[in-house]
Amino acid sequence: MEKVIQALKAKLAEEQISTNETVRELHSKDETYHQTSLPDVVVFPKTTEDVSYIMKVSQEFKTPITPFGVGSSLEGHVIPYQKGIVVDFSFMNKIIEIKQEDLLVTVQPGVTREQLNKELKKYGLFFTVDPGANATLGGMAATNASGTTTVKYGVMRDQVRNLEVVLADGSVIQTGSLAAKSASGYHLNGLFVGSEGTLGCFTELTLQVYGIPEHVVAARATFPSLTQAIQAVTSILQAGIPIARVEFVDEASIIQINTFSETDYLVKPTLFLEFHGNEAGLNADVAFTKEIMQDYACDNFTSETDNAARNHLWDARHNLAYAYIHGHAGKKMMLTDVAVPISELANSVIYAREELDKLGVPGGILGHVGDGNFHCLIMIDMANAEEIKRANEFNKNVVLYALERGGTCTGEHGVGVGKMPYQRQEHGAALDIMKQIKKALDPNNLLNPNKIVEIEEETLNEIY
Ligand SMILES: Cc1cc2nc3c(=O)[nH]c(=O)nc-3n(C[C@H](O)[C@H](O)[C@H](O)COP(=O)(O)OP(=O)(O)OC[C@H]3O[C@@H](n4cnc5c(N)ncnc54)[C@H](O)[C@@H]3O)c2cc1C
Repeated sequence: MEKVIQALKAKLAEEQISTNETVRELHSKDETYHQTSLPDVVVFPKTTEDVSYIMKVSQEFKTPITPFGVGSSLEGHVIPYQKGIVVDFSFMNKIIEIKQEDLLVTVQPGVTREQLNKELKKYGLFFTVDPGANATLGGMAATNASGTTTVKYGVMRDQVRNLEVVLADGSVIQTGSLAAKSASGYHLNGLFVGSEGTLGCFTELTLQVYGIPEHVVAARATFPSLTQAIQAVTSILQAGIPIARVEFVDEASIIQINTFSETDYLVKPTLFLEFHGNEAGLNADVAFTKEIMQDYACDNFTSETDNAARNHLWDARHNLAYAYIHGHAGKKMMLTDVAVPISELANSVIYAREELDKLGVPGGILGHVGDGNFHCLIMIDMANAEEIKRANEFNKNVVLYALERGGTCTGEHGVGVGKMPYQRQEHGAALDIMKQIKKALDPNNLLNPNKIVEIEEETLNEIY
C-alpha cells in the first residue's frame, strides 16, 4: 500500500489523499446493518484526468477501487470489503452546463440532487428523481435510483442522455449523445446506469430535466385497511390518472412520523399523493381520484396547495427512515426493497406485513406503490445473533415471494452485497452474460469487486 500511496502522490495534491483513521472510518460503511470494512486510503479526484490516473495506479498495483458518492446506498454497495482505494467524488461537484432549451443539464458526479434542484429552480426547471436522501447524481446513476416521482417521470435510467465514464484501464468514453432518442449501437447508458461502480467511474453526466409544473396539489388519504389503500392505487393507475406521486405508509410508520415530525396524522393505512399540471386539469384529476378512493372506503382525504404545507407533508414522508433510526437508538436499519407487477402488489404487502408481525421486531411497510415497489423497514439489534438470523430469513422470504410472482429482488436500492444471493434465481443464465460483461470491462476484478456479480460464487458466504 505504501507504493500505491507514493504513486498517488506523484499526481494528486496532499489534500486529495487521506489515510486518516476517521476519514477511512467514514468510508467503511453505509447507513444500514451491513458489516463495515476500512479502506486503506481515500482519494478525492478533482478532474477526469485525476480519475483516469487513479485507475491506472489501481491496475499497476492490482489495488481495488470503490467509488463513493455520499454513501447513502442501503445494500453495502460502498463498503470496501477488499480494502484498497475509495474514490470520493465530493470535490467533483460542479454544475457544468444548463441547456435550458434542450431541457438538459451536464454535471460532475459529486453534485447532489438538492444542489442541482436549487440551481435549476432559477431557470424554472427541476430534476425529477427523488430518492429521499440527498444523494449525488453519480451515486444515483450508479444505483439506477428512483423514488416518489417515478410513477410519472421514470427512473434514473430514463433521465440519462450521456455519461462520461473512466474505464478500468484509465481510458475515457462517452456512452450516449444529446439527442432525445437514438437507435445507434448497443445501449451503453442502460448498461452503465445501475452498474454500482463495478464497470467504471462516471465523471460527467448529462441528464434530462423538466419544467416546474404550473400547479401542484399534495394530498393524504386514509383507509380502514392496507388492502383497500393498495387496491385504490391500482384503480387510480388503471383509470389513467397522471398521478405524480403515490406513496403508501402503514400504521406503524405513521406512529413514527407523528413522533419524529410532530404531526398528528390519523394512525391508519395512508396514501401520500401529489398531482402536477395546470389548475383546471388538476381539479379534475383530484376529483376523479377522490371518487375512486371512495369505492375503497377512503375515510379521510386532505389536500394542500400551499407550498409550505406540501413541503411539510413530503418532509415527514422522507424523514421516515430517520424517524425509525431516532426512535430505536442502538439498533440498525434493514430495508427490504422488492417490486412486483401491480396486480400482485396488495397480496405481497399483506404477506410482508404478516411476516413482519411474526418476526416481532419494530418496523413498518412503506412504498412507491405506483411502481409496484415497497420496502419493509425493520430495526434490528446487531448484538443479538438470533434476531439478525431471523431478520435475514424475513428479508429472504419477502424477496422469494416477489421473485415467484415475476417481481425483482430490488426495485431501486440495488444489489450491493445484500441482494447478491438472489441474482442467480432472478436472472438465471443471464447472470453469466453479466459476468462476461464484467470480465470484459474489468478483467482484473478491481472495480468495486464482488458486488452485483460475484466472479467466484463460492466465496460469497465468506464475504457476506
Ligand atoms: C433515508 C434513505 C432513503 C432512501 N430512499 C431511496 C429511494 O426512495 N430510492 C432509491 O433509489 N434509493 C433510496 N435510498 C438509497 C440511496 O439514496 C441511493 O442508492 C442513492 O442513489 C445513492 O447515492 P450516493 O450518492 O449516496 O451513492 P453511494 O451510496 O456513495 O454509492 C452508491 C453506488 O454508486 C457507486 N458510485 C458512486 N459514485 C459513482 C461514480 N461517480 N461513478 C461510478 N459509480 C459510482 C458506488 O460505488 C456504489 O456502488 C435511500 C437512502 C436513505 C438513507
